[in-house]
This record gives sequence, structure tokens and C-alpha cells, in this order.
Amino acid sequence: MGESGLEQLWAGWRRDYVVSATVAERDGSEPDCVFCAIAASGPPRVDNLVVWRSDLSFAVLNAYPYASGHLLVMPLRHLAQLDELSSEESADLWCGTRLAVSAITDAYDPDGINMGANLGRAAGAGIPGHLHLHVLPRWSGDTNFMTTVAGVRVMPESLAVGWERLHGAWPPP
Ligand SMILES: [Zn+2]
Repeated sequence: MGESGLEQLWAGWRRDYVVSATVAERDGSEPDCVFCAIAASGPPRVDNLVVWRSDLSFAVLNAYPYASGHLLVMPLRHLAQLDELSSEESADLWCGTRLAVSAITDAYDPDGINMGANLGRAAGAGIPGHLHLHVLPRWSGDTNFMTTVAGVRVMPESLAVGWERLHGAWPPP
């Protein structure tokens, strides 16, 4: 499936994000950042794709995923660089990342997990202004990361199904 097919497939979720951004604009929060809009969308729900939220961080399913179960973990606060995190935010973000790895492991039983961040647009960040960590399951023999970035993606389940699996598998506090 090519990029245009994917864009059509997920157009409904993109529309939801646009609606969220409009709400955030009315609230006076940052209107241009989709992650701030999600951060302002309240507790975890299937319709905002947030699977976990603390006082400082949250985890959301990537609406444009490289794989099923592709999570983004990030601070609630809009910041771009690791050294802008307070020590509390840094610890909480790492805690959320560990929980995301546990949830993906329980929900998908993958052969491996990719975890990391693209800092800056030149490094591949789609939204460079709001720091986020990617955590996604991998299987032996699946398409490699660069190929999936190039647009050859296999999407065997819907985002709603992925949300149910990961929310259900999220470790209790
Ligand atoms: Zn933001």
C-alpha cells in the first residue's frame, strides 16, 4: 500500500486531530502543535488515542504509524530539547517509556522493540517542536525501519484495536 492509500485510510483520524487542535485554540493553548492538542484532550480514551497519562507525561498511539502498536511517549509540556526537561519530567518520561515497552511486550509479544527519538527535523522528526519518544514492536522478518519510513507499511489492525490492546496491557500504577 502506498502513501496515498494510507492517507485515505487514516483521514478520519487526522480530522479528529484537527478538531482537537481547534478546541485547543479556543482554550488558549498552543494551537499549532498537534501533541499539545492531544495533551489538552483529557484522560485516556479511544477517541484521543491516549493510552496513558500522568501529571507530567502521556503516551499516545501514533496516528501515522510505522507498525501496529506504535506509541509516542512525551512530556505534556511543549518543549523540543532533552535539556529543557525538568528532572521530574525527565524521570516521568523515562518511566512512561518503560511502561510503554512493558505494554507493547504484553500486548504484542514482539521479537524486538524499536525505541528512540528524532531530535530536529533534519533527524527525521515530523513534529520537531514537541519532544517525543517512539516505541514500537518489531518482528523477525518484518520490513526494516528505513523501508517503513519510506512508505511501505503493513497495517494489520485499526488504531482503535491497537488502543484497546495497549490500554488493556498497560501496567497498573
Ligand atoms: Zn506541543
